[in-house]
Amino acid sequence: MSTVSPALDRAFWLLRNEIYERLDAADCLIEDFAEWTGAQQERAGQVLDDLVTTIRSVVAEHVADTAGQCVFCADAWPCRTIAVVYRVTTDPERQIATLTA
Ligand SMILES: [Zn+2]
Repeated sequence: MSTVSPALDRAFWLLRNEIYERLDAADCLIEDFAEWTGAQQERAGQVLDDLVTTIRSVVAEHVADTAGQCVFCADAWPCRTIAVVYRVTTDPERQIATLTA
């Protein structure tokens, strides 16, 4: 049972939706890859750099304390956030998983 108020729940939804909108916009850059101009390629590279920085920032916040608890979300480490990032970045169906293979 959630103890979050409806107003806070709405704020969380809006925040999550804003993140998804930005990720969707990044996904859209890829759709017209064959027709990219030099400026679009440069922008896509900058967006990729921003996305890597974003994910790196999330991972940096979710570290274990000496008791093995995530200092950010207080779950046992690896917390759900780290588990999701790990699952997505090691999914063999994704190109990111092949970068260090
Ligand atoms: Zn965490």
